[in-house]
Amino acid sequence: MIFMMLNLFDSHTHSDNSPDGEHSVTFLCEKAVENGLMGFAVTDHCECDKYEKDSYEQRMLHSAFEVKKAWLTFAGQLALTLGIELGQPLNAPDSARHVLGMEKYDVVLLSVHTVRGEEDPYFRDFKNETEEACAQYLERYFDEVLETVRWDDYDILTHLTYPVRYIEGRDGKKCDLSRYKTRIDEILSTLARQGKALELNTSGLYDSFGRTSPDAPFIARFRELGGRYVTIGSDAHSAYDIGGGVEKGMRILQQCGFDYLTFYRRREARMLEIM
Ligand SMILES: [Zn+2]
Ligand SMILES: [Zn+2]
Repeated sequence: MIFMMLNLFDSHTHSDNSPDGEHSVTFLCEKAVENGLMGFAVTDHCECDKYEKDSYEQRMLHSAFEVKKAWLTFAGQLALTLGIELGQPLNAPDSARHVLGMEKYDVVLLSVHTVRGEEDPYFRDFKNETEEACAQYLERYFDEVLETVRWDDYDILTHLTYPVRYIEGRDGKKCDLSRYKTRIDEILSTLARQGKALELNTSGLYDSFGRTSPDAPFIARFRELGGRYVTIGSDAHSAYDIGGGVEKGMRILQQCGFDYLTFYRRREARMLEIM
């Protein structure tokens, strides 16, 4: 209960309505209360380019239904919001628009998991690739993120350096992110200019990777470039990870000069003081 004082809000979690999520919304809520979160957003996956193949319409309807049920059960205990993690909207803009029109979401997370014409780095083995091939993959990734953030119907850009956890964290190929400075600056300025939030993804803090996405210097750079809104997401796919790394993430934001953490309700930024 003591942690309630810390304004811990997890803006990025998955229930079993995501293809790779493990637990029900109810169990996520129970663990969130137990872990002392003031609230969290359920942000199940909707990969726009696999919309029909992986039945995302049904998944999103079910996710929303369960969140609304949990609103009644956990009222007064938890600020629970309904979100969606929208992947690759530019690859299937009709599906993106359709799914966003289905529900009144509190928050829309924007993600790029797959570079057009490539597979998700999760499924790609970088171990036997040259460092130059890995670097070129990352270059295409950041180009695609830049193109995607110029789209408008979202609130938060998630895990800016997503492939790094696989290329470097899992497959041991060093990524020199200074090579992409201009592109990343352009992404961060676009977010700042459009009034969007940047996520500090803390999933790497509770697994062997040990790093956030992005690393702290990019959060500080976002602030320098005029960014105001930062959110923290554990990206938990299991109830046992909900809120993982969020408290440590708040310290990182503070070190980067942010006094407030953001969460979204009805697509509006709400500020929580970092204590
Ligand atoms: Zn993601
Ligand atoms: Zn996620």
